[in-house]
Amino acid sequence: MPTVTLIATGGTIASVEDRAGGAVNAGLAGDRLLDTLHDRPEGIAVRVENVEARGSYALDLATVHGLCQRIEAALAEPDVSGVVVTHGTDTMEETAFLADLLVGSPKPVVFTGAQRHAGQPDTDGPRNLSDAIRCAASDRLLGCGAVILFEGEIHAARDVTKAHTSRVDTFRSPGLGKIGDIDGGVIRLYRRPARRLHLPAPRLGEGVELVMCGLGISPGFLHHCAETGAAGVVISAFGRGNAPMGFAAAAQRLVEAGVPVVVASRCAEGATMPVYGKDSGGITLRDAGCLFAGTLSAVKARLLLSVLLGRGAGMQEIASVLEQLDLGVDPTG
Ligand code: ASP
Repeated sequence: MPTVTLIATGGTIASVEDRAGGAVNAGLAGDRLLDTLHDRPEGIAVRVENVEARGSYALDLATVHGLCQRIEAALAEPDVSGVVVTHGTDTMEETAFLADLLVGSPKPVVFTGAQRHAGQPDTDGPRNLSDAIRCAASDRLLGCGAVILFEGEIHAARDVTKAHTSRVDTFRSPGLGKIGDIDGGVIRLYRRPARRLHLPAPRLGEGVELVMCGLGISPGFLHHCAETGAAGVVISAFGRGNAPMGFAAAAQRLVEAGVPVVVASRCAEGATMPVYGKDSGGITLRDAGCLFAGTLSAVKARLLLSVLLGRGAGMQEIASVLEQLDLGVDPTG
């Protein structure tokens, strides 16, 4: 009989209201989640580990790094077919992406959660959890890396994002779509992620900041990053990778101090590319020493930078990994 390890971290799936109409807080452990299943997958043994019963908005990088080590350790058990991680939806795409980078085992790592908490009669948690257990037990997902299973859809960690604040089909992979789905217990896989990297890191680099561009904002936060010793900065820029006036000069100051600055796009689809000039078009940002994230979202570019800094990577290696992750070439393979 296949065995799946369920690692429970909290989130809405593990939450109920403190009192009627009160705050919703995480607190249910993994065993309680299994008790709520009305459709418990037959023929699959489930082993439970509890990590942090917290909202995912309150997790930090060190906790998530430890979680990825636990995933790796669980997968190293010869009798374990795969791991399910229950997790809040707010930052699920980020933890899943970190697991995708850090965990080396080819066995399935399936993240899931809920949009409607466990105290609601129409909570979506139990169905998602049953489906996730089936996916983690299946060899169909071998080698696909970390995925998010939600509302019957299977999404690659690299591509997926939370797209809706409340709907149960919140997870989408803009421009690319799901890699598979599960329907009535039947798993269908349509494609395999082609752009994966395994980048184990002894820790995650702290102090990588994220700056979101808006029309006419000042580069003041970049100056703040330079003055407070940020380890790296990701700019969530306009379109192809352009920023408001003053950004290129402020970025150059950071780069000259040895701080990597990565330009991602705030668009949901497409790749960055230095095309425009003047203050602070993409060409000007590139000439100032900024690197470009390609199709990687700003939040995921920030995590990649944390992983690379945690590995002790310098500017050259960061540039090369960004390029190869974007084009789908595995520099470690
Ligand atoms: N809304 C969130 C959830 O789905 C809260 C969190 O991310 O913990 O779980």
